[in-house]
Amino acid sequence: MEPIFLTPYFRPKIWGGRKLQTIFNYDIPAGKVGEAWIISGYKDDASLVNQGPLKGQTLRQVYHEHPDLFGNPKEKEFPLLVKFLDANDNLSVQVHPDDEYARKVENDSGKTESWYVLQADPDSYLIYGHTAKTRDELADMIHRGRWDKLLRKVPVKAGDFFYVPAGTIHALTKGIMVIETQQSSDVTYRLCDYDRVNEKTGKQRELHTQKSIDVTTVPHVDPAIDIKVTNEQGATIKILVEPPLSPHFYLWQIDLDGQWQTSLNGHPYLLVSVIEGEGQLQVGDQTYKLKVGTNFIIPNRMKDFSFIGKMKIVMSAPTKQN
Ligand code: ZN
Repeated sequence: MEPIFLTPYFRPKIWGGRKLQTIFNYDIPAGKVGEAWIISGYKDDASLVNQGPLKGQTLRQVYHEHPDLFGNPKEKEFPLLVKFLDANDNLSVQVHPDDEYARKVENDSGKTESWYVLQADPDSYLIYGHTAKTRDELADMIHRGRWDKLLRKVPVKAGDFFYVPAGTIHALTKGIMVIETQQSSDVTYRLCDYDRVNEKTGKQRELHTQKSIDVTTVPHVDPAIDIKVTNEQGATIKILVEPPLSPHFYLWQIDLDGQWQTSLNGHPYLLVSVIEGEGQLQVGDQTYKLKVGTNFIIPNRMKDFSFIGKMKIVMSAPTKQN
């Protein structure tokens, strides 16, 4: 019984930067990357197990072939997706559909996502929500390109947390780096891409104006985020979001200092990413080295384990409604 350590699947993006190589020391080609899918079971873009008896398999394969490691879940595919995003330029202004719309129109899951901000340049902001009061007003402002009036800009700094339910217009902007925890889905509707041209194809990326108008929540409502903080020996635990506000995942950010002995606490399995510092994971008499950029899953049968060291981690678990 071992934790499932994962190597990311890297996705180049036209807005990507080079921080993933320098911060996490990932062995990837020099150049702009943009997205590291650090815990992914998504289609052909799954992360790879990098040690132990399952080494070389994709998380997707492991999920299909060893359902017992995940508590024999009902969901046919691994339900969550965790990424590092390095925005070296503005991302397209976008919105994602909910499950009902995505299953009907795209044969994929909907996408509710969340961002825990790792770095932000001074005076950074991101786009979150909109000002339209009716769907007609939304459509009118989109068709006329009145982005300055339509889009809400929110200041952002390291340590901030944003919950982005399906239907929320959003965009990361230049100079922001986040760890994104979301439903496993790749359905994105672009409202605006700043007229950018792909260097390889010479074309602009497709916009999805009508679908964006259809799936956007109108008027925008800010989710009632209320981060609770608890202290256990060796750990300060922030509950960033949980059901019922978040129907798809639990999400925690934990500051470790010393030794924190814990367990699955009733969750079928846990997704863990080290975002700062280094230390160890101890399971019985086995010790595993952890450092910034390490990602793993604590499987269903692993009962008790300890984190040791001085680290920050982001941890998530699926909910049963997935
Ligand atoms: Zn998005």
